Amino acid sequence: MTAIDPKTTPTRTPLEERLLRLIDDHGPIRVGDFMSDALCHPQHGYYSTSVPFGKEGDFTTAPEISQMFGELLGAWVIQSWEDIGAPSVVNLIELGPGRGVLMEDMLRTAAKVAPKFLKAVHVYMVETSGRLRYEQTKRMTGSKVPVTWATEMHDIPLAPTIIVANEFFDCLPIRQFVRTASREEKCWRERLIGTTGIGDARRLSFELSHQTYASPEGAPSGAKPEDVFETCETAEDIIREMTSRFEQHKGRALIIDYGHGRSGFGDTLQAMRNHHFWPPLETPGKADVTAHVDFAALSRTARQAGAMVHGPILQGQFLAQLGLEQRALALAKHTTSEQQRKEILSGARRLAHPDEMGTLFKALCVQTEGLGIPAGF
Ligand code: SAH
Repeated sequence: MTAIDPKTTPTRTPLEERLLRLIDDHGPIRVGDFMSDALCHPQHGYYSTSVPFGKEGDFTTAPEISQMFGELLGAWVIQSWEDIGAPSVVNLIELGPGRGVLMEDMLRTAAKVAPKFLKAVHVYMVETSGRLRYEQTKRMTGSKVPVTWATEMHDIPLAPTIIVANEFFDCLPIRQFVRTASREEKCWRERLIGTTGIGDARRLSFELSHQTYASPEGAPSGAKPEDVFETCETAEDIIREMTSRFEQHKGRALIIDYGHGRSGFGDTLQAMRNHHFWPPLETPGKADVTAHVDFAALSRTARQAGAMVHGPILQGQFLAQLGLEQRALALAKHTTSEQQRKEILSGARRLAHPDEMGTLFKALCVQTEGLGIPAGF
């Protein structure tokens, strides 16, 4: 796959034109506002206009790498349903289901091993992109369980609940704060997006707010000038929504994403295009723009809201504890094709090896206070 050189793609995307006009009229925008539009703008957003996953897309996610990921998570969901008392009605909510591959694999596993769970479950897919909803609908056609789409978790009826979110939190809009050299109490400025250049050369560019701020909540002490600290209010709101559900009915959530277990400094805003890193402000709407997930912030929010937290642990460790190796060997033993056997084993490696997704990706569980230790943790 060849990398696209932004210098050789001078034309501005329609979303870039829109953002330039918006900034002219109203002034610089926050990094998170840029992310929201770049990903979810109804006409021009990346998720609204393309199906980004898989070999043909711009990046690959765990369920797209191997069916084993969804099968292990399916077993985790069934175990969790039993742990909350095997209720006769249970919501299975997936946040940001992409092409619907993970849900399909989880439900296939459930159909094999837990028909009672299938009778109890109502699936809810939380998805903003109409285009991806369409992909998910195609994949869910013929499903034996009721499936409903929602734009926000808030709209889903209350019931005992299992939630799964893979590579969802990294898409949520962040704010970035930059430590200045000032010794005053308000020594942080927000990183904003304004414009630079004139005529055809006009482009989006980073700048700092005039307004100054005190240290953002959760920032470790000892920041040096130029250090960047990121916050994600939307992620915290979603965690609070989960925990309030888990207070009213027993429930458990599994959050898997790339990110850090301890809050720290650093600019993690990144873009991917065609399986390569890409300058985040270039060609908005045509590249995936994400940021690392601060698992410490999610854990703190969940605990403060009264939920119990396990992890974060490394994805490699989590999948190993769910039996990835045994599953891979069993699948490999049952195939007669050497090619398939290689794919199964290389899929397991990609999911769990420290040089691949095993260490950068983490798993976090948020659940109702008083439930036992979840499988895999
Ligand atoms: N979980 C899938 C896809 C990850 S990509 C996988 O692992 O393959 C992120 C997904 O989240 C996409 O489906 C995208 O459309 C959706 N999404 C992004 N921001 C969202 C938001 N604010 N609300 C709901 N869905 C969102």
